[in-house]
Amino acid sequence: MLRHLLICLALAISTLPARADEPLKIVASFSILGDFVRNVGGTSVSVTTLVGPDSDAHVYSPAPADAKKIADAKLIFINGLGFEGWLPRLVKSAGGKATVVTATSGIAPLKLGSDADPHAWQSVANAKIYVANIRDALEAADPAGAATVSANANAYLAKLDALDREVREAIARIPEARRKVISTHDAFGYFAAAYGIAFIAPQGVSTESEPSARDIAAIITQIKTGKIPAVFLENISDPRLMRRISAETGARIGGTLVSDSLTSENGEAPTYIDMVRHNIKALTSALTN
Ligand code: ZN
Repeated sequence: MLRHLLICLALAISTLPARADEPLKIVASFSILGDFVRNVGGTSVSVTTLVGPDSDAHVYSPAPADAKKIADAKLIFINGLGFEGWLPRLVKSAGGKATVVTATSGIAPLKLGSDADPHAWQSVANAKIYVANIRDALEAADPAGAATVSANANAYLAKLDALDREVREAIARIPEARRKVISTHDAFGYFAAAYGIAFIAPQGVSTESEPSARDIAAIITQIKTGKIPAVFLENISDPRLMRRISAETGARIGGTLVSDSLTSENGEAPTYIDMVRHNIKALTSALTN
């Protein structure tokens, strides 16, 4: 009798539909995108990121655990614009039924030579487009949760509006002639275009290729003739090249910019909003003094 009851119970449980309030399994290719998805999805999503804190998505090598994450996901958010060159092969080999959503869809890409610049998130106006794309994809994937997702998105978009004003006010305090810096790689093209600070970098829009001796010599000349006040390290890059350029030119190290990845929870920029605030603080303190 008891055995019969247990079998009935087991059958009943196994035939129950998935709970409607079970969070959607989402994969985000890198930490900044993961933060956007968490803000928009709230408790209706369970987000895993592939490229972790302080890591470089340009040159990422997927681990076996990543294939499992992809296979289990309902949605995969990617940056696109050539940022995650390793991802299409991973998705293909992992199998699964996830929909791949390109979060930069609708953003007019900047070009550096023939390459699209993938770092669109560095303009807060673009971050709002990422958020709108994420909202639309989450609503389509889970219509029952659409009202909550829409409210979350609106609240987060309002924070981004305030952040954008904060950046503009901070940059306005920097004397115009001093609004130029050196970063390790060309990660700040969209920031430069939106906010009017010139960024020059020895390395291009991807970190895949090392800068040549000629690239470095050209930067050193530019720093000297352009009287560029500061060079910046990046949280995802080896600091040695910038230290060398600083030593050879006398341009000081202005601090570390958070470029392609958030920091760990205990670091200075565990969220996108923290990242933008950290960067404007680093820029204004190096360029106004
Ligand atoms: Zn980059």
